[in-house]
Amino acid sequence: MVKLTFYGGVREIGGNKILLEDDKGKLFLDFGYPYSKYRTYYEEYLKPRAGAGLLDPLVMGLLPRLEGIYRADLETESLWQQFRQAGHHRKLEGIDGILLTHAHLDHSGHISFLREDIPVYATAATAFIAKAIQDSGKADFDQQVCYFTPRVEECLKGWKQGAYFAGGGGDCQRRFAVADKSGLSQEARDFWEEGTRQKKLASQPLDDISNCSFNLRCFPVDHSIPGACAWGIETSSGWVIYSGDLRLHGREGRFTESTIKEAAQLRPRALILEGTNVDKVANVAEDEVYKSALKAISDARGLVIADFSARDVNRLLTFLQVARDTKRKLAILPKDAYLLKTMRLLEPEIPALNEEDALVIYQETTASRSPAAWLRNIYQEFANKIVLAKDVRSNQDDFILCFSFFDLNELPSIQPRAGSLYVFSSSEPHNEEQEMDFRRLHNWLDRFALHGFGLPAEKNGKWEIPEEEKGLHASGHACGPDLLRVAREIQPEMLIPVHSEKPEFYVDNLGGRGIDIVLPTEGGTIEI
Ligand SMILES: [Zn+2]
Repeated sequence: MVKLTFYGGVREIGGNKILLEDDKGKLFLDFGYPYSKYRTYYEEYLKPRAGAGLLDPLVMGLLPRLEGIYRADLETESLWQQFRQAGHHRKLEGIDGILLTHAHLDHSGHISFLREDIPVYATAATAFIAKAIQDSGKADFDQQVCYFTPRVEECLKGWKQGAYFAGGGGDCQRRFAVADKSGLSQEARDFWEEGTRQKKLASQPLDDISNCSFNLRCFPVDHSIPGACAWGIETSSGWVIYSGDLRLHGREGRFTESTIKEAAQLRPRALILEGTNVDKVANVAEDEVYKSALKAISDARGLVIADFSARDVNRLLTFLQVARDTKRKLAILPKDAYLLKTMRLLEPEIPALNEEDALVIYQETTASRSPAAWLRNIYQEFANKIVLAKDVRSNQDDFILCFSFFDLNELPSIQPRAGSLYVFSSSEPHNEEQEMDFRRLHNWLDRFALHGFGLPAEKNGKWEIPEEEKGLHASGHACGPDLLRVAREIQPEMLIPVHSEKPEFYVDNLGGRGIDIVLPTEGGTIEI
């Protein structure tokens, strides 16, 4: 008997944590950060105490109470006593690995809490993006997916024992096993084992997925980040397919198409399928984004700011093409340059920064006196590519700046000319906090007399992009009709919807078609 237990991703978008148990072993399908659960209790200035280790997330229901799977350095001796008698506690040992589908934190973020000897299975691109994001990120405690600094309990002078601090012994790398290890260059392997923070890294060379106790299939799919995959797991009840996040309308839609065919051939027992955009009836394709952006930017006078996620490398390449076509230069942030450089280790068709005339790197105005190693390396390697606020200010017609809301602080240094363009190429606000950010964004645009394009605005309490300015964002998720096609063509015996606020969509639209649709419950188990 195979058991699937859903510790996250139930009636929420993201936070997927699905435990698969079989005689052959135990696997987690993703181990994501549950943004909506965090928002129930926390905000920017009220966060779980990093120094409290596992206590806060366990008490607040952000992490499943599974004794035995978490990092020992985050546990106090008495930590589990209080949970053993309480509900939802379980001792769980001998996890064979995490099957990670892609490097978005709502799928990967909580890996940071797990024991370092539990291997993470992924594509090489997912592993590398996760490391590049972590290397160049803010080192937030709960984003330590690839490596972490073990904590030690210390007794400060005059304090009682019980406070936790980051240890000084260096970083500890997780064991990653990648599906496409054989083609990796030496340079790529070196990147993986290299410590790029100030601390030393106890590295773990990349392993191969063939060492897993399960027979696994890694199926590439298209999503809004490179390297995304679905997983096939051969269990004693038959094949289980886990979709991760996917779409058919993106530039790599053919990946998803061939995954559907190959998964169908396995005649799967169960398909665990995402349902983020079940409500949408159509998609915007990436080519359409290119056309809409080109149209908006061709007529622009003054500076152009493009707001999109640079981790969506396809989108970055779309705007690079627009920059070439409009004779502007695309100015990206150092962390985006680092990600592009990292991706090029795996995909030689990604443009080389040094050889691409239309790409430059924007150096933030208030830099640190002692930048981290990865940043120092970027500044050194691409010294002739660096532009400063004053360069942009004096040649505003020459640039498309890749900024998001959180980079607006550079505008007082740049002083964009009135009438400059702000192109929004990302998703609408999904919660109150994001709505507040959008109000602020509109205020920034007013302050500098910038012209917004494709920007959601509030109308009768709803945030919508003006009709004539749509077509600037291709979602990472398939729309409802496409999702139904995925389910019908794979034709599993059982369909389990996750990563959706409306899983009933599948019951309403696929019921009675020979697929048994089972809705998971939080913490509940489905036997297959
Ligand atoms: Zn995703």
